[in-house]
Amino acid sequence: HRPSPKPPLKILLCSPRGFCAGVVRAIDAVERALAKFGPPVYVRHEIVHNRYVVEALKAKGAIFVEELEEVPDTKAPVIFSAHGVAKSVSAEAAARNLLAIDATCPLVTKVHREAEIHHKRGRKVLLVGHSGHPEVVGTMGQLPPGAVELVESVQAVEELRLEDVADLAYVTQTTLSLDDSQEIVSALTRRFPQIVGPHKEDICYATTNRQAAVKQVAPQVDAVLVVGSPNSSNSQRLREVAERSGAPAQLVQGRSEIDWSMFAGIASLGISAGASAPEVLVEEIMEAFAERYEISVETVSAALEDVAFPLPKELRALA
Ligand code: SF4
Repeated sequence: HRPSPKPPLKILLCSPRGFCAGVVRAIDAVERALAKFGPPVYVRHEIVHNRYVVEALKAKGAIFVEELEEVPDTKAPVIFSAHGVAKSVSAEAAARNLLAIDATCPLVTKVHREAEIHHKRGRKVLLVGHSGHPEVVGTMGQLPPGAVELVESVQAVEELRLEDVADLAYVTQTTLSLDDSQEIVSALTRRFPQIVGPHKEDICYATTNRQAAVKQVAPQVDAVLVVGSPNSSNSQRLREVAERSGAPAQLVQGRSEIDWSMFAGIASLGISAGASAPEVLVEEIMEAFAERYEISVETVSAALEDVAFPLPKELRALA
């Protein structure tokens, strides 16, 4: 009695997927700090939005907190997450003489500087982004309260009531949906033709390339699976991009979260991973599919990436 053969499944692996340069740098920063200073190392907010990464660093001696007030007076370093922090957070760390190491992604810092320059030039700044995301909190916190206004949708653009529309500028979150943000930016420029914006949008290369790959793959497959955490903005956007391209899609943190009912009877599957999701989770998910299907794997590449960022200066040389 032979077991019935497994049905075939063609997997299209999106490339690029997974870790971006900002995430590699941020995780590296925590690991180098642990090596240089020894545990504990405090980290304000999840260093990147991924449970697996956070648990692995906890096991090595990192202590995660949401606010600086949870950090005792200590000589141990405090690392700020890749999403960036408000100026008040850096100021508080300095006032308390904490050894702060800033792992904010340089592409987020670039947006911070843009906002600051607009403000210095007397412009009201509109931030296109998602309320409550730590990057949005950090970017708004670069300027005094009230200087930045958050815009989340085309409708919000229509409903904006501004006292002075002569000097306006916009910046965006780095991990938005390209399609959504283009609509919002068009609405802004329609309503305020004089508005000043970035030369190229603030959405980062990693977000752009991962969305492009999913867009290419989704129309060719019966379903899409995105590996990433529910609080990861760029991962959520990948799931949306897949759905909008017509493929049912699921966002999972690991193989135990897969809802198999969506994948019953499929013949092809697209797989991608958010910028904070490690490749080992993609491998684990491929194994889960290989247990149920006779899989064949093909990579679909939308872009080549060779971006790398230097570590925060405090960690560049191992003392
Ligand atoms: Fe930086 Fe983009 Fe990665 Fe965010 S997703 S950490 S902005 S490279």
